[in-house]
Amino acid sequence: MNSDIAMYRAKESGRGTIAFFEPQMQERLQERMALESGLQQALARGGLRVDYQPIVRGGNRGLCAVEALVRWPAANGMPARSPAEFIPIAEECGLIVELGAWVLRTACADFETWHRAGLALEYVSVNVSPGQLHDAAFEDLVALALREHGMAAAQLQLEVTESVIVEGEAVSSLLGRLAARGIRIALDDFGTGYSSLSYLRRFPVQAIKIDRSFVEELPGSRSACRLVEAMLAMAHAVDVHAIAEGVETPQQARFLEAAGCEAMQGFLFSPAVQAPALVALAPQLAGGRAQIVSAL
Ligand code: C2E
Ligand code: CA
Ligand code: CA
Repeated sequence: MNSDIAMYRAKESGRGTIAFFEPQMQERLQERMALESGLQQALARGGLRVDYQPIVRGGNRGLCAVEALVRWPAANGMPARSPAEFIPIAEECGLIVELGAWVLRTACADFETWHRAGLALEYVSVNVSPGQLHDAAFEDLVALALREHGMAAAQLQLEVTESVIVEGEAVSSLLGRLAARGIRIALDDFGTGYSSLSYLRRFPVQAIKIDRSFVEELPGSRSACRLVEAMLAMAHAVDVHAIAEGVETPQQARFLEAAGCEAMQGFLFSPAVQAPALVALAPQLAGGRAQIVSAL
């Protein structure tokens, strides 16, 4: 069993490597297996939740859309887990297909509820992992979720990272078909990967999401300022709009607005909130009275 564990570790580090068994490897493996089965149970028994982070327009800072972010709250003695921790595990063990489908359906259902409550958002944005795009049922799943909740295609945005572009022909043509239906495609974490102008031109992308690592350094760092301006110029050259992530200070927001960034999200405006709280939050964000909503 120990040599098996060491073999898995060697395989993880790539081909042609050697790994010797160490006791910590077994602890890590056990912890991982516990996380995997905990996640499976949480998904099956309603232990996950989808929260929504407001996306505001550059300029008047009114609420225009939201990004769906999955949450795994503390339960039965297990602590709350961050998606940065459990999404990679879901991806590795294949659970991402089911989890992603659940997030998508939940986001569409919540969008319909807000709509009925009189909160007219432009769209809801949902993160999609590469593993979901390789699933043959994905396209039908999206179409069904939209139909079931009476949504127009343009009311859904799918966030993919630039890396999916190199996943191959099948994934690119799937994204092409989704975009042809009118669904918005956004490139997430823009600036951290290929950031190629040719991808922007060839792909049916409506938006780029400028990564938080750049926004964080605005406006103090000269290079971050010039890079963000360059990303905006690139996007605008091909009629793609930009959403800045992780906006935390008024100075960052002002720089982005002056540079022509169409939309922003970040703790300056609001963290992700539970679906029912969004209706009360919307008026606070509208009309340029953006503020930190720390009470939520
Ligand atoms: P992401 O797509 O880049 O999402 C933005 C992350 O930044 C979120 O973290 C959000 O809470 C955080 N954030 C937002 N504004 C600020 C800010 O002003 N300052 C700082 N420091 N952070 C901010 P979260 O919710 O922990 O999600 C982490 C990552 O997990 C996401 O990064 C995304 O890649 C992934 N993820 C979350 N939900 C899903 C999902 O439903 N499906 C998939 N495939 N991935 C998801
Ligand atoms: Ca995202
Ligand atoms: Ca991001």
